Amino acid sequence: MNPSSCWPNSRKALNKFVTAILAAVLCCASSGLFAQASSPPAEHAIEVSLTPASGQIEISDKVRVEGRKNYAFRLAPWLNIESVALDDRQLEVTSLGHEYVLALPDSQQHVIGFTLRGRIPSRGNQQSSTAMHSSSGGDGVYLPGYDAWIPQDDTGTIRYRVSVKLPADQRAVATGKLVAEQVTDEQYQATFEVAHPGEPPSLFAGPYQVKERRSQGLRLRTYFHAELTGLADVYLDAADTYIQRYQAEIGAYPYADFHIISAPLPVGLGFPNLTYVGRQVIPLPFMRTRSLAHEVLHNWWGNGVAVDYAGGNWAEGLTTYMADYALARDKGEVAARSMRVKWLRDFAALPEQRDQPLIAFRSKQHQASQVIGYNKLAFVFHMLADEIGQPAFADGLRRFWSRYVYQQAAWADMQNAFEQAAGRDLDWFFRQWLQHSGAPRLSLGAYSVELVEAGYRTRIEILQPVSGYRFKLPVLLATDEGDQRHEIIVDSTLTRVEFVTPAKPRYLHVDPDSDIFRRLQQDETPPILRDVTLNPSAITVIASTDAGFVAAARNLAARLMDVEPRFDTLSALENSTRPLLLIATTDNIAGQLAKLRLERSPELPDTVHSAGAWTARRANAAPILVVVARNAAELQSLLRPLPHYGGQSYVLFAAGQAVSRGIWPLDRGSLYIDLQDSL
Ligand SMILES: [Zn+2]
Repeated sequence: MNPSSCWPNSRKALNKFVTAILAAVLCCASSGLFAQASSPPAEHAIEVSLTPASGQIEISDKVRVEGRKNYAFRLAPWLNIESVALDDRQLEVTSLGHEYVLALPDSQQHVIGFTLRGRIPSRGNQQSSTAMHSSSGGDGVYLPGYDAWIPQDDTGTIRYRVSVKLPADQRAVATGKLVAEQVTDEQYQATFEVAHPGEPPSLFAGPYQVKERRSQGLRLRTYFHAELTGLADVYLDAADTYIQRYQAEIGAYPYADFHIISAPLPVGLGFPNLTYVGRQVIPLPFMRTRSLAHEVLHNWWGNGVAVDYAGGNWAEGLTTYMADYALARDKGEVAARSMRVKWLRDFAALPEQRDQPLIAFRSKQHQASQVIGYNKLAFVFHMLADEIGQPAFADGLRRFWSRYVYQQAAWADMQNAFEQAAGRDLDWFFRQWLQHSGAPRLSLGAYSVELVEAGYRTRIEILQPVSGYRFKLPVLLATDEGDQRHEIIVDSTLTRVEFVTPAKPRYLHVDPDSDIFRRLQQDETPPILRDVTLNPSAITVIASTDAGFVAAARNLAARLMDVEPRFDTLSALENSTRPLLLIATTDNIAGQLAKLRLERSPELPDTVHSAGAWTARRANAAPILVVVARNAAELQSLLRPLPHYGGQSYVLFAAGQAVSRGIWPLDRGSLYIDLQDSL
């Protein structure tokens, strides 16, 4: 299950269709298969009659077209054309294929009327990987716009009004503004329409309980299964907060409604003015915070301004930066840095043959493309904001938004907006980060400290073996009288810098807060839980004499370790680099750590907690995972949640709930130099 995977819109699928060969025809067309670029978008007036339990659907669609010699379209394979009329004249249907071209007598305005009937495929035992396709069942019907449940033309852009009828115990909701709604004893009916041309309607139905809130002229709704209605208010509150936030940052919310719909499948999908989220996922805390923020923001990036996929997908990275990352930044610089470090650590784990330039990213197919298209790209926006300053960055986003809302935009359009906001050329920036795979590799060369008249002169060489990258590099120089922060421009393979300080320098740390996207050196990666739990040579030591605690610890070790845990004593670690899982009570942890010549990590937050886990490295670099709890019951409460935090350096719990987690700052590694003895 990947609850946060999102499918921001359908244009990729539609673009594929453009290049497909139209296989079957209603009437042969000799030339000009596609709509002329100048022709206005088709207007669809759609009436749907739906029985969710059986999946039976009947659709009437009147399509108004103009300025075309033909109407080319495709249709989902489970739909049959019952009848077609051109300007009220019935046409003979001769083909049973799914892609069609209907020749028109001239390029004047015409109305093509379709009657369609079919049975939406039953969901059965489908998994989330099949969530791309239409499905039906008593607990929900899913008709995504890209699946051609109405005739879908080659432009992918239409206007529509869709009216849905279904049994009275069911509710239906579609993309677009809710303009009419009626419930009788027999049936429920609702009508949705769009003000601006866009992707075809997506339609959802199910035995939903609807809860509504009005906020500043917007209609917010939850369409939840019965067991989730207690969560409706917190979701409406959260959605309202995020919408207000992004309106203030970017520009007015581009739609009239926003809906959160619970899905029978374990998905998290974004569509214009709504999000469709697995019913099992909705109760999870991360969903109504980070994931909901992400989906709400897709109303601006990906839907409000659509992606011109030919040039690469800029929307996921921007949404990750402005939603996921911004929420981390709200918690403080430690959480923000922790997220950047996680992105760098993930990138360091990506084999080079799976790396790709950002312009090649289209959508998330696997974890590797997420490391690039979401994380690396979000990091690039972090660096862009540093490069041009927050005010220019915010101005650039607002320019981009107001210029391209309800349209498609490409990377070049975004570059333009930021260049205007910054008042300077940024081609070098976009070129180096978007068009190449990989990242700078930084290291430090020769260094020296000498006494000069004004105090101390520190010299250092900064190396990047492959030149071509240019960036502002933060440098921290710690002296006996405090820290100095500098920013130097690196734009060649060798950069020599010198600092003169009145006080004696103690150490120098390049990129101390991980603000530059670069390939980490092996000695920099901070330890995470997985460094111990995935290693088959690790040993487990339980430091307690309490039988209940020991039993709970053995259970926990079995849950945490990827292989059968090997229990031993600390003496087994002598002269060994085997990883260690150390499980101890709060009372005796200090003594155990002293034996290992370690201390509780000073980076561990002060959050009040009753149990926790954190990593460290011994002097010989072997990783240690320490799990501490006050008593057997507290330890027992980690059994379920702790294994989910393998990618973290630490996680703290109170009453079985994670209250703080994160990744350590990068180890000092090769970008850190101790200068104490350099004079
Ligand atoms: Zn997304």
